[in-house]
Amino acid sequence: MPITQTAVSYYGLGYVEHAAVDFQEMIAHGCNTVYLAVTEFDFDFWRPNIPKIVEKGHELGLKVVLDPWGIGKYFGGEQVSKFLQNNTENRQVSALTGEKLPYACFNTNSFRNYFMNFCVTLAKEAGADGFFWDEPHYAFPKGIASITGGVADDWTCRCPVCQKKFMDYYGYEMPKYMNDDVKQFRWREAMEILSNTSKAIKEINAKQEITCCVHATQNTYYVTEYRGYDNWDTVAACPYFDVFSTTILNWALPEAFFRDITERTVAAARKYGKKSERWLMGYYKQPADFAQIDKTVDLYESLGVDRLSSWTYRGGYGTVLAAPDALKLWDRIGENYKRVLKK
Ligand SMILES: [Zn+2]
Repeated sequence: MPITQTAVSYYGLGYVEHAAVDFQEMIAHGCNTVYLAVTEFDFDFWRPNIPKIVEKGHELGLKVVLDPWGIGKYFGGEQVSKFLQNNTENRQVSALTGEKLPYACFNTNSFRNYFMNFCVTLAKEAGADGFFWDEPHYAFPKGIASITGGVADDWTCRCPVCQKKFMDYYGYEMPKYMNDDVKQFRWREAMEILSNTSKAIKEINAKQEITCCVHATQNTYYVTEYRGYDNWDTVAACPYFDVFSTTILNWALPEAFFRDITERTVAAARKYGKKSERWLMGYYKQPADFAQIDKTVDLYESLGVDRLSSWTYRGGYGTVLAAPDALKLWDRIGENYKRVLKK
């Protein structure tokens, strides 16, 4: 199957005329899609211009997908959260210490309503082509690796809302140490918010496309992150998702890791009749030899990936997360996009 979508993420804009110039640069770099990051601040402050920017993207020939970037710190990303600023409750809580953490608990009605309103409002107003669920996750744990000696014991979320839900379902107090019931509970609850919101978006406009992008973890006996979306079957099976995507891998990782993650991503997507998407690291780090970008794109294409995406526009140029040669990295990714995109 040919690669039919080449995307790059874009954030920090507010002016239509400036976005237009950047969109033209994306098109010149072989992009046919832009992932428009909409922060909580953008939503509250720049709302009037969001539909105009989407419209401009369409006018220039780009598909425009909205990414509620870092919302509640539930999704990945560097920006701040107004939900956390305005709410001292409804936060994820450490199971072992009981501390409230700077992550919204997405199992509370408070955050679920907030997220639903954010997305449904944009689905009605913005006129975009879909939504991107960007690394949704529980705060802890991550990088559990018993093979390296010792498992990370702490996890989230054991807030009062999660504790009550667990008690109501299982009939005993939510334990502080993770067990199989807790794992099932976390997987099940994690899907609720995305499934319900995706359904609501499609009821507004059935053509809205939903891409769910989860952490690219090995999920083996030795290494499982328990971020809530690490059970790929559960995620890919969601009837309201159209695309199953897994996150960026650092260029320093071995090719075998890229191959393993990509094979399993494509397999999970195909099993449930979804498109697959793989990412290219277009910020912060770059390969020692840029030819690795060409080889990785070839690998993705040969393994049957449907869509390529890169974070982010201009290699993060001008930010603390810029790649050392940000503009050269952006150019090389663009050359690859033009090489493989089948129109
Ligand atoms: Zn909770």
